[in-house]
Amino acid sequence: MRIDLHTHSTASDGTDTPAQLVRKAAATGLDVVALTDHDTTRGHAEAVAALPEGLTLVTGAELSCRLDGVSMHMLAYLFDPEEPALLAERELVRDDRVPRARAMVARLNELGVPVTWEQVARIAGDGSVGRPHVASALVELGVVPTVNDAFTADWLADGGRAHVDKHETDPFEALRLIKGAGGVAVFAHPAAAKRGRTVPETAIADLAAAGLDGIEVDHMDHDAETRARLRGTAKELGLLVTGSSDYHGSRKTCVLGEYTTDPEVYGEITRRAFGAFPVPGAGGA
Ligand code: AMP
Ligand code: FE
Ligand code: FE
Ligand code: ZN
Repeated sequence: MRIDLHTHSTASDGTDTPAQLVRKAAATGLDVVALTDHDTTRGHAEAVAALPEGLTLVTGAELSCRLDGVSMHMLAYLFDPEEPALLAERELVRDDRVPRARAMVARLNELGVPVTWEQVARIAGDGSVGRPHVASALVELGVVPTVNDAFTADWLADGGRAHVDKHETDPFEALRLIKGAGGVAVFAHPAAAKRGRTVPETAIADLAAAGLDGIEVDHMDHDAETRARLRGTAKELGLLVTGSSDYHGSRKTCVLGEYTTDPEVYGEITRRAFGAFPVPGAGGA
């Protein structure tokens, strides 16, 4: 069984539509894929409709959180998408991305970059707009050669010249909301230091005590030493360990199924969740 529990589609900052993503997941030999767009479940219906036979979809989202000024991401799986409290918070965060992206465009204009909101909005389409879309606009304009090159102090990295904060949820509140919607919570890439500051290990213990189910250990942004350390932390705290590609289509270099999750851990996630069930593919359009 090959299980990839973290991917993005055009519903946020990925470049494959949800239908393309599930077809690629099946073609690459995955048995289970989770669709975890940033702060939205909008891609789920299309993914379900296109789900190939033999592939199971885990519905989810990656929630933008902030703890003591440090941005962090919380993967939420198999929650009830209609549960009002979590839905309201998700929409609040997603909607705040628009004025925030406009503010980043304004900053870039002040820095002499002729990017426009219309350009960013075109690139984002109906996906929840984020820095990768702004980064793609900078690539189009020839300001930087690749999306990754826009994530520096000069441009869009945390605290960078053109970076603007968005509303992000307190992770303890996020845990409460995810649990209240029957979901399972996994701290995404907790030690991805190249993205900016990360939370201290003591915070992982506090989150575990507050109901966190697991941490994403096998991820492209963790080196071997970091993975070994995080595995130890998970064991100590009784947390599940997941591995995932964090696939973003052509906006990032990782490929679907590059890292995977142990079937036993996947089984435990499905047993804990009661907000939604994994969707087995029936061979859609
Ligand atoms: P946002 O949620 O709009 O603040 O953008 C965060 C997203 O930007 C992440 O989900 C990644 O897709 C991407 N990202 C963050 N840091 C980096 C980085 N250092 N290099 C490339 N992409 C990054
Ligand atoms: Fe992303
Ligand atoms: Fe993330
Ligand atoms: Zn992600």
